[in-house]
Amino acid sequence: MNRLCITPIFLMFFSLVSVAKTLEFTEPEKDFIKSNPVVTVGMMPDFTPFSYYIEGEPVGFEHELLGLISKKTGIKFEKKIAKWTTIYNSFKNKEVDMISSISYKKYREPFTLFTSPYYNIPIMIFVKDDFGDYKGLKSLTGKRVGVLKDVFYIKELEDLGTMNLVFYDSYDALTKDLVFGKIDALMQNLPNVNHLIKKNLYNNIKLASELVLPNTKREDLRFGVQPEKSLLSSILQKSLMSISKREMEELSDKWIGSIKEYPGGHIDLNDNEKAYINKNIIKYCINPSGLPFEGLSEDGEHVGMSSDYYRLFEQMLSANFELVKTNTWSQSVEYIKQKKCDMLALGMETQERKKYLNFTSHYLDVPLVVATRVDVPFINQILDLEGEKIGIIRGDVFVKKLRKKYPSLKIVEVDDIYDGLDQVKNGQLFAYIDTLASIGYEFQSKYFGELKIAGKISENLLLSIAVRKDDETLLGILQKVVNSITNDRHRKIFTKWIPIKYEQDVNYKVVWQVMLGVFVFLTFMMYWNRKIAKANTLLKQAQKDIEEKNKELNRLALTDNLTTLFNRRKLEELIQAEIDKGKSTKKDFCLSMLDIDHFKEVNDNFGHQRGDSVLVEISDILKESLRVMDYVGRYGGEEFIIIFPASDVEEVKLIVEEIRLKIAHYDFDEIGHKTASFGLTSSKANDSIESIIKRADNALYEAKESGRNRVIIH
Ligand code: GH3
Ligand code: MG
Ligand code: MG
Repeated sequence: MNRLCITPIFLMFFSLVSVAKTLEFTEPEKDFIKSNPVVTVGMMPDFTPFSYYIEGEPVGFEHELLGLISKKTGIKFEKKIAKWTTIYNSFKNKEVDMISSISYKKYREPFTLFTSPYYNIPIMIFVKDDFGDYKGLKSLTGKRVGVLKDVFYIKELEDLGTMNLVFYDSYDALTKDLVFGKIDALMQNLPNVNHLIKKNLYNNIKLASELVLPNTKREDLRFGVQPEKSLLSSILQKSLMSISKREMEELSDKWIGSIKEYPGGHIDLNDNEKAYINKNIIKYCINPSGLPFEGLSEDGEHVGMSSDYYRLFEQMLSANFELVKTNTWSQSVEYIKQKKCDMLALGMETQERKKYLNFTSHYLDVPLVVATRVDVPFINQILDLEGEKIGIIRGDVFVKKLRKKYPSLKIVEVDDIYDGLDQVKNGQLFAYIDTLASIGYEFQSKYFGELKIAGKISENLLLSIAVRKDDETLLGILQKVVNSITNDRHRKIFTKWIPIKYEQDVNYKVVWQVMLGVFVFLTFMMYWNRKIAKANTLLKQAQKDIEEKNKELNRLALTDNLTTLFNRRKLEELIQAEIDKGKSTKKDFCLSMLDIDHFKEVNDNFGHQRGDSVLVEISDILKESLRVMDYVGRYGGEEFIIIFPASDVEEVKLIVEEIRLKIAHYDFDEIGHKTASFGLTSSKANDSIESIIKRADNALYEAKESGRNRVIIH
């Protein structure tokens, strides 16, 4: 699959890394600064916008640049401002220490130490706003193109012979004629034209491209220093190197103007590369159904973000690109293998693809997100999806990657985003993985309120330009393109295609805002989710504690503390349950009540505590003598009740007799033998708790009366 998206958040990652060096001077350099606090410099009065006058004050790019250097070094510059020939001669005569705005020429070397350039003046092509798409010099064929008389690239332009050149004496007149439509385009150095645009507020002309011709170099602006003052030269050089890219950009924005329509930096192609561009039509393939990133419109036209990237490549390289149409992304991949096309603008580098493709460095970093139904919890990490079915587009590079990295995921390949989201919607899939931009868009149109973005996974899509393996020249050219596309360009392409062009009846500003909102919300939810998860764990623990306490309370409510047998309340419940059961099963149950004989004596002779332990020992005898189905409880004092469910009195009598004997034979420490008396009865129709207990109690009474240590049945 071929996907591409950038969000403003991710665009921030494109920001350039400043390469400014920290400034450190050697001892001799420090000494030079101490002994030469003032340095004289020759500058021009009319070199807009580098050094000129506004209301009697010398101003411009170079003045501010020297100001920056003063700040860094402490050196004061005494400016000698005069026409070029004047300052150039006084520099040669060693009347000034240095000179500004000097270009490198070999013949100047004997009397000049050059710093590296602080500005390279590009020659630019400007056109009217309504010019249409500019696709390199071929777009100027047959057009009226204005140039200054005697500029150094005239000869090369004339040799091309494709355009109607119109010559001017001043760039003021040249620019005015373009503004009023007398010519179709002009060629002039960038600072001059930008200066006029700023001054006169011209708003109907735009930059088309830089003029790139084999023998036309940019004019380089440097400082020149007297050869004896090599320390001054190295101090200036170091100071220039320590100026950050941002400081330079600010200077350039202020004095030269922000270059709104200029697609990118100057691309220096070598001869081999230039020859390649001139000779070849570069054929490319796309994913025909990869919108909003790229696709084919109903009329079969290439649309989406990558269409703008190709236009940009054309402008930057003055090259010809041609779309080779395919029906599917896999067909595009086949085509590039079969050399039916040369490149793909948006490709993810994989080991597999590296067998037949080369990749430039990546220029887009696209996050992947997880869409689920609205009713599932938020996902903190991909392993939260373990065991669930997750959809991903068939053949996507992430299918293999995720399978290998997370074998416990159940990855299901789907045909496209609609298939994937539909399956999530109707529950066949738990989640679907794709880019934020594609999912965000589909939510707006089809799945709003039913699906949500439940989390971001840690994998990111890194997109590069992919080039046929055997075409290394093209790879080199495109790597230069990638190096020069500005952040602003990326942003423009993104906001152009994502919010506006995709479908007419949707307000993409809103879509975009919603997507951003979703993202912020998502980040917040992940944070919140983690908090809630923590609270949940605590809550669960508390609940567990409460449950355990409740169980304990329950047990306490139903059992007798001393003996851990059922208590009276539970006994009565159990009797009622047996009565109820008997009504449907028509089976009788038996109940025996026993009382320890002469128990008072135990308390009297051995103390209450020993009495208690005897009660416990008797309880143990009772417990171990009963069948699994029987219940025993302490009815009160030293009286116990045994319930024998679904049993007839004859078999129970045997059990009870056995218990009686066991007790009688038991040797209580210190005390010796104790006996107990038993009353036994069987349930009757219409029995209540009270009636059955009463019968058993009567039988027990009889057992006591008739001499104790016996079982009486009523
Ligand atoms: P008999 O039943 O054979 O007529 O004589 P008895 O001495 O056992 O008399 P009765 O059943 O009337 O007396 C019960 C005595 O049991 C009274 C009380 O001191 C003692 N008793 C009741 N509950 C407890 C108890 O929880 N712990 C102890 N140590 N003694 C108890
Ligand atoms: Mg008693
Ligand atoms: Mg007793």
